[in-house]
Amino acid sequence: MSIFQTSVAQMWKRNNMMKKLIYIFTIVGLISTCGSREPTRVDPVLDLDNSIGSVCGMASIRGTNESSISNGGCGINNPVKVYAVSGIKLSSPALINCETARTLDGWVNSSLKPQAKAIGRTVTEMNMMGAYACRTRNHRAGAKLSEHSKGNAIDIGGFTFADGETVTLLNDYYSSPYKSFMSNIRAGACGPFGTVLGPGTDSLHANHFHFDIARYSMGAYCK
Ligand SMILES: [Zn+2]
Repeated sequence: MSIFQTSVAQMWKRNNMMKKLIYIFTIVGLISTCGSREPTRVDPVLDLDNSIGSVCGMASIRGTNESSISNGGCGINNPVKVYAVSGIKLSSPALINCETARTLDGWVNSSLKPQAKAIGRTVTEMNMMGAYACRTRNHRAGAKLSEHSKGNAIDIGGFTFADGETVTLLNDYYSSPYKSFMSNIRAGACGPFGTVLGPGTDSLHANHFHFDIARYSMGAYCK
């Protein structure tokens, strides 16, 4: 081997070593970048805190696991605080049990989303008016405990669409074009939920839907 050939061979070796080093540094750099990046959001519409993950065994239900609550006849075993279901944000997190959360998620997909689509809209947020509360039915003294006291119930007062418009049961339930949307999503909740109440039931439900998962031998109670 001539001197020239030797130096070329050494240069080639050195070049190869440099390439390897660059390659290794690039890989290390990529790994450390991945590690510091925020986790990919399941729902891009939501800007949720990192402690919020999937709960109740469903990727579509976003929330936190909470400690069991026991307060006399009231309480929930393994409750969850739900922030969003299937990409729809809850205006305030709902403290409920997993069966209620899964029923809500099912109704969002089977009824709320398709009915909104039928009127050319996309729901981005639900206005939550109630979830867990240790109280009697309709707040009446001496009455039976409400399903709210077991984490079995939620109250929904309205919806926000992707264009920013907000509709409420109080103002828009009987007005076009929301009348059909509202009555269809209400009908769609009857069955998946065991109790469905709302405008027209009584004065206490004029401004919200009450959905709960109580089961009756006679079938769902929808009034
Ligand atoms: Zn209620």
